[in-house]
Amino acid sequence: MILEKARYEVVLFGKKLIDKGLVAGTGGNLSLRVGDLVAVSPSGVEYETMVPEDVVVTDMNGKTVEGCLKPSSETPLHLALYSSRGDISAVVHTHSTYACVMACLGWELPVFHYLVALAGKKVPVAPYACFGTSALAGNVVASIGEEKAVLMENHGLVTVGGSLREAFMLAEAVEFASKVFAHARSLGSPRLLDGEEIGEVVNALQHYGFYGENDDDLKGLKE
Ligand SMILES: [Zn+2]
Repeated sequence: MILEKARYEVVLFGKKLIDKGLVAGTGGNLSLRVGDLVAVSPSGVEYETMVPEDVVVTDMNGKTVEGCLKPSSETPLHLALYSSRGDISAVVHTHSTYACVMACLGWELPVFHYLVALAGKKVPVAPYACFGTSALAGNVVASIGEEKAVLMENHGLVTVGGSLREAFMLAEAVEFASKVFAHARSLGSPRLLDGEEIGEVVNALQHYGFYGENDDDLKGLKE
């Protein structure tokens, strides 16, 4: 089996998405890029029963290189992000509740809480297009810019990172921040961090060690 470690990681973080309530059933999808290949979650398979062999390996054009199942319907979105962002190796897409609340209101998430700064200067909103389309992929790529998270209007959330661990952590952080923002906005107007405060937080986060890659589950697997 090629890309054994990457496929195992896709399964591992897929199950973590379920455990944390960030996706339900077969919703959402995730992928990990290794060189010119991408390990992407299959379409219509529950994360609880998913095994590494179910994870599809495609080339950068979306052609299946190994795997018997259909790759996620959002594979064009994942590939468009990898093509436009040489700095990322992982993509996570969720329909988590409060990120969807923000996305359905068409509200971007400002840095009102320091954890939003993990994703960048804000979490922007990509204009609506039907799921699985190249139009949606184009909107997401155009809207995310150089940030690490983007809300998809009337749909959900996409996060990216140098690893699945980072993209997963960002999906968790944006969901938490969206929940706090929704509650805060229902009571008043949360104060936003100013540019200087954001810069200070970004600097502090770089030294905080959020991006640890130690995962004993992955030891001994082939790259
Ligand atoms: Zn979706």
